[in-house]
Amino acid sequence: MCSNPSCLLKTLENVRIPDVGKIHNLWTCNSCNKLWNRDTNAARNIYSIASFMQKNNLRPSRFQRPATDPQSSIS
Ligand SMILES: [Zn+2]
Repeated sequence: MCSNPSCLLKTLENVRIPDVGKIHNLWTCNSCNKLWNRDTNAARNIYSIASFMQKNNLRPSRFQRPATDPQSSIS
């Protein structure tokens, strides 16, 4: 997920260089075209989630677990 706060789509792809292939630690955003170091982007996302949780005492909606159906649970 792109950690650019103004980015709407937030999907990332590995950077590919012709005749070299995929560069594993570099990603580019399909929406804002920002180039990210994978670890830097991950650290920004973790900080953003932690800050949200500290302020709101719950995970951001994108990271919440789906509601479970009590009828389907195995006990
Ligand atoms: Zn983006």
